[in-house]
Parts: sequence; structure tokens; C-alpha cells
Amino acid sequence: MNLLRTLAFWSCAVIFPLPLIFTYYSMAREPEQLRFYIVIGLTAYSWWLLSILLSVRSRRLERIVGLPAIYGLHGMLGLAAVSMAFVHRDNSYSGNQLAIFLGDWAFYLALGVLCFSVFFLSGWLVDRVTVLLKAKQVLEVVFRHQFSVWVHRLNLVVVGMIWLHAHQLIRVNQYFPFMVLLDLYTVTVLSVYAWRKWIAPDSYLAGAVIANEPEHGTRKVSVELDAEAAEVRPGDFFFLRVEGESGVSREWHPFSVTDDDQRTLKFTIRQHGDFTRKLTDVPVGARVRFEGPYGRFESLVQKHDEQAPLVLLGMGAGVAPLLSLAAAHHTTRNIHLLWAVRSEEDAYYRDTLEKYQAAADGRMQVNISVGRFHRENLTELLPKQTLAEGAFFVVGPNPAVLANQRLLRRMGVSSRRIHQEQLTM
Ligand SMILES: Cc1cc2nc3c(=O)[nH]c(=O)nc-3n(C[C@H](O)[C@H](O)[C@H](O)COP(=O)(O)OP(=O)(O)OC[C@H]3O[C@@H](n4cnc5c(N)ncnc54)[C@H](O)[C@@H]3O)c2cc1C
Repeated sequence: MNLLRTLAFWSCAVIFPLPLIFTYYSMAREPEQLRFYIVIGLTAYSWWLLSILLSVRSRRLERIVGLPAIYGLHGMLGLAAVSMAFVHRDNSYSGNQLAIFLGDWAFYLALGVLCFSVFFLSGWLVDRVTVLLKAKQVLEVVFRHQFSVWVHRLNLVVVGMIWLHAHQLIRVNQYFPFMVLLDLYTVTVLSVYAWRKWIAPDSYLAGAVIANEPEHGTRKVSVELDAEAAEVRPGDFFFLRVEGESGVSREWHPFSVTDDDQRTLKFTIRQHGDFTRKLTDVPVGARVRFEGPYGRFESLVQKHDEQAPLVLLGMGAGVAPLLSLAAAHHTTRNIHLLWAVRSEEDAYYRDTLEKYQAAADGRMQVNISVGRFHRENLTELLPKQTLAEGAFFVVGPNPAVLANQRLLRRMGVSSRRIHQEQLTM
């Protein structure tokens, strides 16, 4: 994401609370110091609301800044809001016991949810410290991902408590226009959230499973759509949900499409957890709903010079979005696809890759490695010109993506030319 776009996106955090702050400041007659700490509290509240708004995964916004940037801001707002709430709580005073109770417990709850979410839902710690990743994997036997998602949703309770807290305080509730604006912010954000979670899915793309085949610890799932997905582009991913009585939970899980077909979506899914293992039970004919498409790989491909080679580096199931980029571009662009797999049998797309290679008329090179690619392998495989000019797309488990990104940078590839997608978010 270029700097200007990043700044514009992050400036939402500054702009969003301003109407509330200005309205309050223009009316309030409290001592200056108290007004300041109330504004700090207001800022925290509006950041919680903004972070809820970001969590609905707007597709339009995602196409501009990408989902990792959206979740990045979502997480930072949560952290900043708790810090602001701490300052507000430590420096303001009130005689209303219910308001104090609600404010205090909203703060403790928000702090608890934040710590839990940083560990279980964000990659901030676990992607960087191996021992924490191992601890998370062990704890996830009890604290399943979906449980963590429900804990995270307690932030909605936090918002409700703070809203009530504000309504109890004479220092704020006496200013009618301000209270109307505060309620408008709250109701709008919660309505958008409710609409996206419970109403909008009924209008999402849907289709029926036409194949669900096992392949060395993965499943190849094909879904024929009721209508063509004209918006789907190579490298895109969807959140999918299995409908009906197949025994699979109704959670949304993200998976990348593996070719450029807009009528039949094909997925390669590694089975390692509750949801993915259950996919074995999904029969042909089962209905699947799709939220998306999401993804920025194709627009990034288009931004690079047409002559620049595309270097597609996939780890395990991470090859999926890269396969669809290869499907779309193997006859027109120079492509070097590097795929790291655990064992020879895991290279289940060898035939497809050979087919693309044969059609590419010498433009496509494929290297499959059992085990990761090390610096010496990459130095040997990638010509100097590719390192200097290529557009790199790296996809796989988070720690492996970060390690490869660092390796490529050390080999002289500029950050601007490295694009990545991590398989946990
Ligand atoms: C953009 C993107 C594209 C992906 N594409 C593919 C693909 O093409 N093929 C493939 O095999 N895998 C892909 N994944 C990974 C896949 O989504 C997870 O492996 C799957 O959701 C794990 O579910 P589980 O319950 O079986 O595993 P669990 O063992 O319960 O979870 C393993 C990890 O997956 C993550 N996870 C679990 N549930 C969700 C969820 N609902 N939403 C987000 N993350 C979750 C959590 O970090 C968790 O720690 C992709 C992930 C992302 C973010």
C-alpha cells in the first residue's frame, strides 16, 4: 500500500471522532481539565465504534487498502481505545455510582478482551515468537478459534456499557444535541454491524458443491455458482460458509480460488482443524455461500511493469491464490513459481503446473521443493535481473511468510516489490 493511501486510511481514526468532540466542546461548560478528560473518553468510545465498523470487512475498502491493513487499523484502534480509556478513568470523577460501575467494568472487560484477542486472534505476538505460537496451538485445543471470536464480540457489550455510562452522567447528558449525535453514532454503527452479520449474507453469492475430493491431507472442493462471479479476479479469496444440515459449523472461513474460472469456484483446502476436517462430510449438492471476493493480488500484478517477471512463492496450501495468478497470466507474463511442500505427495498440483508450463511457451518456470527454500536455493534459482526487477508474491503460514519476506529483502528485493498473504488473520 503506498504511503499516501496508508495516510488517508489511517486519518479516518482522526476524523471519525471529530464531530463528537467539536459538538461536545462547543456546548460543555465544565472546568477545562475535566472537559479534556471527557474528550479523551469520547475519543476512546468512537475508536471502539470505528473498529466495529472496520470489522464488517467492507469489500470496497478492502479492494483499496487490503484486509490486512483493515485488520491492522482495527487492532491498533482497540489498543489505543483501551489506553485512552485508562487515562479517562484515572483522571475523571463523578458522583453517580452506576456510571462509575459501568465505566470501571467496561474498562476491565475491554482490557481483558484486548489481551485475549492480541494473543489468540492477532499475529502480533504469535507470528514473531515461536514459543508463543506453540502455546497458542496447544491452548486452541480448548479455546477454539470460534470461541475466541465470541470472546472478541464482548466488545459489543463494552460499547453498550459505555453508552449507558454516558447516559448516566449529568456532565454529558444535559447537552441534548450532543447526546443525539452520540446515539446516532452508536445506532448507525451497530445497525451496519447487524445488517452485515445477519441480513446481508442472504444476498451473497451462492452455489452447490459439484466435487469434494481428498488429496493428501487436503480437499479439492469445487462449487458451481448460481450466477457468474463477474467480480472475481485471479488471486482472490472468499469467506465461505456451508449451509444446511451437513454437520459443518456455520462459520465463515477464508479460502483462495485456485484458478480463474468465474462460474465454478475451486478451492484447495488443507485439513488441520475442526472446520476443515469436517469438510470431508460435505456431500455433492450441498449449498455454499460466499462473502467476497476479496484480494488485491491482481491489481498489484497490473501495477508492475508488464516485462517484470512474476515470482510466485507459495508454501503448502498457500499455492492456491498463486495458481490462479499463474492460470491467468502464464501465456502473457514471465512467471517463476516456487512451491515449498512437506513431502513429494503434497505436490498435488504438479500436473496442472506442467500443463501451464507447456502452454507458456518458455515463459514459465516451476520449482517444487520438499521443505522450505533457503537463501542458497533462491540465489541459484533466481537470476539477478529477476531479483532486481521481479514482482514477488509470497503466500503461506504467517511465520513462514514473514521469514521469506525478510530473506528476500536481505537478497536485495525492495519491500515495494514484495506482496504477501498470510493464511491466518
Ligand atoms: C486470505 C486467506 C486465504 C486462505 N486461503 C486458504 C486456502 O486456499 N487453502 C487453505 O487450506 N487454507 C487457506 N487459508 C487458511 C484457512 O482459512 C484456515 O486454515 C482455516 O480457516 C482453519 O480452520 P479450522 O477450523 O479447520 O482450523 P483451526 O485449527 O480451528 O484454526 C487454525 C488457525 O486458522 C485460523 N482460523 C480458524 N478459523 C478461522 C476463520 N473463521 N477465519 C479466519 N481465520 C481462521 C486461526 O488463526 C487458527 O489459529 C486462508 C486464510 C486466509 C486468511
